[in-house]
Parts: sequence; structure tokens; C-alpha cells
Amino acid sequence: MLLNALVYLTIRTRASSSQSPIFAMTLLTVGSVVARPGEKISGYIEVPEGVDPATRIPVTIATGTKPGPVLALIAGIHGSEPSPILALQRVRRELDVSQLAGTVIIVHIANLPSFTQRTIYRGPWDQKNLNRMFPGSPYGTVSERIAFAITTQVIDQCDCLIDMHSGDGNESLRPYAYWNQLGVDESVDARARDLALAFGLDHIVIDRNRPRDSAATVFCSNTAHVHGKPAVTTEAGGVGVPTEDMVELNVRGAFRVMRHLEMLPGPRELVEHPVWIEPSEVLSSPDTGTWHPLVQLDQHVEQGALLGYLTDYFGERIADVRAPIAGIVMYVVVSPAMGRGEPVAMVGVPSA
Ligand SMILES: [Zn+2]
Repeated sequence: MLLNALVYLTIRTRASSSQSPIFAMTLLTVGSVVARPGEKISGYIEVPEGVDPATRIPVTIATGTKPGPVLALIAGIHGSEPSPILALQRVRRELDVSQLAGTVIIVHIANLPSFTQRTIYRGPWDQKNLNRMFPGSPYGTVSERIAFAITTQVIDQCDCLIDMHSGDGNESLRPYAYWNQLGVDESVDARARDLALAFGLDHIVIDRNRPRDSAATVFCSNTAHVHGKPAVTTEAGGVGVPTEDMVELNVRGAFRVMRHLEMLPGPRELVEHPVWIEPSEVLSSPDTGTWHPLVQLDQHVEQGALLGYLTDYFGERIADVRAPIAGIVMYVVVSPAMGRGEPVAMVGVPSA
């Protein structure tokens, strides 16, 4: 290891805006990647072998020449959600570090086993959902070790975080963000709210039920939030297909957040007319069989409306799924394979 990997600057400099907190001009090391001012450097976080094989996480550190916050942009927690993955490849290419204040840590594909094996929800080796494994463990199965690597290498080193998802490979989804109103530190909640508005998706689901225990943060973005770092989860794209409009929506969101944080020059924009969604309910399948959805995205459904039904493997109807509340369809599973307890759709109630 080069000696300069161990040397970092800790000169604290007041950022230009009086509203901004004081940021350190710190040169980060993330996995094998050692930041250099004014450069974009890519490499890997190695996730060592444990009870199952080793894997690695492709990352880029883009470092400005001026002090500013450290923003983490994460894609590919779920491997079959490609719109954010392709978006962050584009962000890496388009980001002009000569204009950048602070540092952007790009996690290109957090869950490489899931991406390469094209799995939905769960990783192929341990059948665990990476976005339920945080803060992770160095001694667990691969999903837990990936979570631990992201917690220690990325979340611990960032000031704020965007965890970029889409509908999974089987889910048709209308774009939205989650605002985690954790209720521990009002200022962190408020800054997270602004991050969600800055990303630019106008439908924002309010979630007040995330865990507050730092030993069991469960979700990636919640891990940052519990540690006082504003974070949001975004959802844009679906059904495993990175359409140009959804890739670009993710790219635009990433750059809007950088401008909002004054990491890049340009206008700071917040969604002007957000549609707050609360409450929302994810409906799960009552049985295993063949799923037949009957609703479209954004469709308004009344309480009790039939969202779809299940048949057995011979086509005989075995169960109906109805809306527990009146609202709009945020996402719906559009492929037939269905297991008991798996999500079939999400209904959210928009603010009046
Ligand atoms: Zn996801």
C-alpha cells in the first residue's frame, strides 16, 4: 500500500455559504480507491470471503478542488433495478470535477451477486434482501458483509446519502421518493425532506416507522439517517428495463442534489408542488400461485377495490387482493410468478 494512502488532510475550512456547515477538506479512501483533488478515481471495495465466496463493489470517488460535503450516491442494492445503475455510470462520465466542491462517492452496483445473477429482492447466494441487512456484519453471509462494507466504507464517511432504487425486475412503478421522518433530530429530518424535494420526484412517501436503533437500522438510507446524516431512498424505473426517460430522471436527480448542496454551481431547485403520500400500504400475496394484476400505475382505487387475483397453477382462482385504503397505485407486480407473503402492489394516499 502506498504511503500516501494513509495521509489525509484535515484542514477545516468554512464553506462559502454562511448557511452551510463547516466541511473538512478530507481526502477519502474507499476500499482500494484513494481520492485525489480534481479527479475521478474508480476501483473496488473488496468484500472478503466468509461462509460464502468473496465479492466486490465497484465505486468511484469524484473529488472537487474546493471543500464541501461528502455525498454518497448508491445504486444496485437490488441487482435487477438497472435505471439508477446506468444513471450513475452517466453521472460519473458527466460530472465536471473542476466545478465540484466536496466529494461524491458513487457506489455503482452495491449488490454484484444479485446483478450478475439477475435476481429480484434477494441475493442468489444467501436468499437475503440486502436492504434489510443494515448495518451488516463482517461475520455474516454475503448480504450482511456487503451491508457492513457499505456502512463502514461509505455511510460512515459521507455527510448525506441517496439510495437509488426502482421497481424491481417484476414491478411496474411510478417514480417517487421516501422521506424518512425518523423523529430523533428535527434538523436531520428537515434536511432529508429538502434532499427529497431536491431530487425532483414530485410524489414523496412519508415514512415514520423506520427503526431508530443504530444496531438494527435495517435499511441502507436509514443507517445514515440514524447517524445524523440526511438520507433519502428514491424509486424511479421498473420491470428490469432501463428506459431512457427513467435513466435520465435519475441522472437529473443526482445533479439536482449536488446543486442543492452547493457542490456544483447552478440553480437550486425544490419540487414546487409535492404530492405527499401518507399513509401507504404494501399489500402482500395471501398465497402462492399465479398473479393476475387488474390495475394500472397511478390509477385511483377505492377502498375494497379489486387490485388483482391469484390462480393456482391450473388457472383456478384461489384468492383476491383488494385495496385496504382508497388511494393511488404506486407500484404493482406485473409478472405472474407469486409466492405467499411477497408484495403484489403498493397503494398510497395522496395529500389533498
Ligand atoms: Zn430496490
